[in-house]
Amino acid sequence: ISIKSLSKIYKSKHNEVKAVDHLNLNIKNGEIFGVIGYSGAGKSTFIRLLNRLEEPTEGEITINGKDITKLGSRSLRKERQKIGMIFQHFNLLWSRTVLENISFPLEIAGVPRDERKKKVLELIKLVGLSGRENYYPSQLSGGQKQRVGIARALANDPDVLLCDEATSALDPQTTDDILDLLVDINNKLGLTIILITHEMHVIQKICHRVAVMEGGKVIEQGDALDVFMHP
Ligand code: ADP
Ligand code: ADP
Repeated sequence: ISIKSLSKIYKSKHNEVKAVDHLNLNIKNGEIFGVIGYSGAGKSTFIRLLNRLEEPTEGEITINGKDITKLGSRSLRKERQKIGMIFQHFNLLWSRTVLENISFPLEIAGVPRDERKKKVLELIKLVGLSGRENYYPSQLSGGQKQRVGIARALANDPDVLLCDEATSALDPQTTDDILDLLVDINNKLGLTIILITHEMHVIQKICHRVAVMEGGKVIEQGDALDVFMHP
């Protein structure tokens, strides 16, 4: 993933906010890359630009050789299937079971019923939710809800998993369990994981490399160990 001079300016009548400001970054295939920074640094805007939940004001985002900022709506839909995302508040459908939530992106992608069922059961096993297939989100703990979110994000075999403060609503033990699961998934599936967080601990526990954001810019980057080992 190669990001060149990426900017997002929010304009209103009275002011403009440079949420992301000429940001440059390269993320390698298969790495766990962390973006850390205080509230308001632009992290959330940045990660939403990566799957075009936000439209950039300027710049390029090249994923596997394709500049996704240039895609029309049809090819964008296809590319988006290769980018999974998980959220702080899980964003599950409350009237649907675990199985139905995970199945949802496969339905949208037009995967036949039998194939869907097989894939969903594989995913449920992968994230450790066997036996909970027919539970509703309201019957699950926070950690279990995030496991559903992860399984749903993996349904279309993405190359990239974006994590937006994915453990910020969880207690420390559950946070560790979810981070272990992300490492496990990174090992087993080899996909690239990009996570944003305001928690140093999350970065130190699982990230290979890290960028520190402030005022919409990357102010420091490097191996996770080096960045946090300054005198
Ligand atoms: P972080 O995720 O690091 O807390 P954000 O990306 O949410 O940072 O926000 C970066 C800046 O952009 C902040 O000043 C925020 O107020 C502003 N911002 C974010 N979203 C919007 C929006 N939809 N409209 C206007 N300003 C926004
Ligand atoms: P349907 O199965 O009819 O498509 P949904 O499962 O999308 O319905 O949503 C059922 C209800 O749950 C709606 O009122 C919706 O607003 C609410 N809901 C869905 N997702 C969330 C969420 N992430 N957080 C809170 N409420 C939600």
